[in-house]
Amino acid sequence: MTQAVRVVGLRTLSDTFVRAEVEGDALAGVGLPGAPDEACVFHFPQPDGTRDEFGRWYTLRTVSPCGRKASIDLVCHAGGIGASWARRACVGDEIGVSRAHSWFRRPADARWQILVGDAAAVPALARIVDETPAGIDTRVLLEVDEMPAEFPAGADVRCVAPVPDGSRLAELVETLHLPGGPGYVYVGGEAAATRAARKNLRHVRKLPSSSYGVLGYWRRDAEKARKTWEANQERYATAYSDAAAAAGDDEERMMDLYEANLERDGLL
Ligand SMILES: Cc1cc2nc3c(=O)[nH]c(=O)nc-3n(C[C@H](O)[C@H](O)[C@H](O)COP(=O)(O)OP(=O)(O)OC[C@H]3O[C@@H](n4cnc5c(N)ncnc54)[C@H](O)[C@@H]3O)c2cc1C
Repeated sequence: MTQAVRVVGLRTLSDTFVRAEVEGDALAGVGLPGAPDEACVFHFPQPDGTRDEFGRWYTLRTVSPCGRKASIDLVCHAGGIGASWARRACVGDEIGVSRAHSWFRRPADARWQILVGDAAAVPALARIVDETPAGIDTRVLLEVDEMPAEFPAGADVRCVAPVPDGSRLAELVETLHLPGGPGYVYVGGEAAATRAARKNLRHVRKLPSSSYGVLGYWRRDAEKARKTWEANQERYATAYSDAAAAAGDDEERMMDLYEANLERDGLL
């Protein structure tokens, strides 16, 4: 169920990011997992006054101890309901929040971590660095125009310039040097690039699934992808349930099969 939270603060961090502070009981009630990449689905007011029903995931960059107040850093890219709202947002606006989840699963014995992402993943990677316990060697590779304002100290950070209409995340992952011993690689960014990164970690490097986490944060040509999804919901559901039935508890095997099914059906 979607419930409202109120915008209580707004700040332009850079040409790329606007930070919105939101507050409300709905946030505490949405079931925050408490992990450093935790994100919620937010529903933004559209220019015609209605609220977007589909919703967009945004990472909680900070959360107050009581869980009623959080900040989100929104990328001001060229289009989209979330990015356009970020440009015209006002203190006092109400936005909806409906779901929360996290994906970051660094093993307890990890001695190093490598975090790779584009601008959309910067808030999650920054919070992961903030909340990393001492003793874990952290390397961060960002595909961004400039070092993000307020990125925390405590990690070795390298920025590479984005390519127009493309992504360098797959290339960054393919050329990674992984230290020895237990560690964790986390990759977040454009969906096609993260799919390629996942294939590299799983099928080329043959890392165990406990050693990496990969998440598509946004999709190039999202409007077309949404229309395809809406027109083919049943085929997506069948592709998913067939993959889940064949893979059992193995989530990564399930992803392999699901993506193969979608590719076969021309849905990817
Ligand atoms: C778990 C999770 C956490 C996320 N956390 C954040 C976060 O903290 N901050 C953040 O800004 N985003 C975050 N994202 C990404 C965000 O949900 C998407 O970028 C979303 O598409 C933005 O919605 P929109 O309405 O602005 O654009 P949409 O309506 O979804 O898309 C409109 C157009 O803009 C393009 N587009 C969408 N996102 C981007 C982008 N980042 N860069 C360039 N072009 C884009 C699309 O390809 C499309 O053509 C997160 C995503 C996930 C899954």
